[in-house]
Amino acid sequence: MGLKRTAVSIVLAGIFIVYMFGYPKSARIIPPANPDDPPRLPEGQQRNVLIIGGGLAGMSAALELAERGYQVTIREADSVLGGRLHTRPVERLGQTFQVEHGFHAWFHNYHQFKDIRERLDIDKNFQTWGSNFFRWRKYLPEEISSWGPYPINMLGIVLKSQNLGIVSAMKNQGPLADLMNFDMDVVYDKYDQYTFDEWAKLRNLDTTFYDVMLRPALSVTLNEENTLSAAEMLMYSHFYFLSDAEADKREITRMDYGSAVINPWAKRLQELGARIELNAKVERLLVDDKTGKIIGESSHPEEKYDHVILAPNLQGVEEILTAPLKVDSPAKQPIQKILKDVSQLEIAPPYKVLRAWFDKELENSGSAIFLQVPDFDPVSAIGQYHWHEKESEEWANKTGGSIMEFHLYDWKFGNVRDEDIWGLIAPTVKEIYPEMFERDFKMLAYHVNSYENFPSFKKGLQQYRPNATYPSQCGIPNLSFAGDWLRTSYPSALMERAVSTGREAANHVLLSDHIRQAPFKVCPSRGPGFGSM
Ligand SMILES: Cc1cc2nc3c(=O)[nH]c(=O)nc-3n(C[C@H](O)[C@H](O)[C@H](O)COP(=O)(O)OP(=O)(O)OC[C@H]3O[C@@H](n4cnc5c(N)ncnc54)[C@H](O)[C@@H]3O)c2cc1C
Repeated sequence: MGLKRTAVSIVLAGIFIVYMFGYPKSARIIPPANPDDPPRLPEGQQRNVLIIGGGLAGMSAALELAERGYQVTIREADSVLGGRLHTRPVERLGQTFQVEHGFHAWFHNYHQFKDIRERLDIDKNFQTWGSNFFRWRKYLPEEISSWGPYPINMLGIVLKSQNLGIVSAMKNQGPLADLMNFDMDVVYDKYDQYTFDEWAKLRNLDTTFYDVMLRPALSVTLNEENTLSAAEMLMYSHFYFLSDAEADKREITRMDYGSAVINPWAKRLQELGARIELNAKVERLLVDDKTGKIIGESSHPEEKYDHVILAPNLQGVEEILTAPLKVDSPAKQPIQKILKDVSQLEIAPPYKVLRAWFDKELENSGSAIFLQVPDFDPVSAIGQYHWHEKESEEWANKTGGSIMEFHLYDWKFGNVRDEDIWGLIAPTVKEIYPEMFERDFKMLAYHVNSYENFPSFKKGLQQYRPNATYPSQCGIPNLSFAGDWLRTSYPSALMERAVSTGREAANHVLLSDHIRQAPFKVCPSRGPGFGSM
């Protein structure tokens, strides 16, 4: 009898939980629009594609098209491939280190990226990364990891939290409905005019819950936190945390991004006959006077292309599109139309990444490979490279030292000399890792990356954000866009948005040449639901 009552209670509790929380939807496949077309160009047919920009977006488009028999040329302005995932050789302490632009993590919903990893056979270069560590001035430290099926994983996070209680979490049912009932098709219309902070106030979200569970994601967008669009952040929360119990599962590479990802990718492209040109900044597009199609670019007027993919960062796209065209060029009007929107978009504030070599290693860092410190401005996060990356690990083992990376997003101090940065951030680092100062860590060497190249996702910008095929909608049929600054109709962000829009651009080329498009696997567009039975 007792057993029967327990079983009935469990079933009722299960029904209640599913009623309250709904259930996650699975990833969705967007099939090719032309499934009956052949998978590659027929033997003997040559189609030339120019890809401007050798970041992830351009490389993704290049891989798809080179595999289908296209003659691909990538023209990259920098001396290295990979864009914001690049790695450069840096001489320090009598050794050459491969130093990246900054620490990156790969997530569960990175379906296009996973597909590329499989195609390049580089999965072995990745490792899973356990918990996510946070430290605040205002709150107790948190170690957040998602375990078990939805919604048990959510309850687990709340129960394990040092700052939240189940009662305070339950009080947030109203605002959480915006997350649980996330809908990609309406979220931008509803919330892009609000900042995330305004949304939290509007929805009466409990401050501690907001600060501990939701707001930390703001600090890693490299954007100015108090202007970031609520719609974009709700999409982030869905994509990175809620769409699936596994959504928050991260991976990192075992070695530098050049060796792990970019070099094998470039090698494959070259094996497929692609031409990769570095230090090759494109200034201006060349237009066919009769058709209005883009046929090439000004530094190589003799080369003619059937398709052009514009995959620079946002500034690069604006520079190229604002370069003067002939007065009577048939592309003039379409380009002006594109520029009307693109010129409304903005760049996020400058940021710096300081890589530093120390003579000692932390003993008591809470085992955080990458520690997020949301309210320790100007420091946003600190990475311990010698704990996960081969070259740094070898150096640390040899010397007893450590290699740390300090991420300084939304840099508000203007032009500071590289040698003065440590002095500026040291008081904050002392609050985070007092041990470094108690044990008198000596900085042996450093390297600073300073950039202002990240797209802004400030409130109100979504209405101007084009998608990959916008140029053809404006009247230039053989031009498409790729990059993480674009909009997608499905949830995506950062590296996954870059490679997905690269594939969208490639699909545009394939469709117009009657070659079968590549399928897409995407994160579901709806949240798991709340009271959704
Ligand atoms: C510090 C930091 C940490 C990050 N962490 C993460 C993370 O953890 N997870 C994640 O998913 N993402 C992360 N990102 C974001 C990720 O790096 C980007 O979203 C992604 O690399 C963008 O790729 P892209 O191809 O769209 O643009 P880019 O990488 O900017 O590539 C554009 C390329 O075009 C080139 N170019 C520009 N103009 C021209 C021209 N006129 N002619 C020719 N070439 C031109 C540029 O030199 C560049 O190589 C991080 C970024 C930074 C900076």
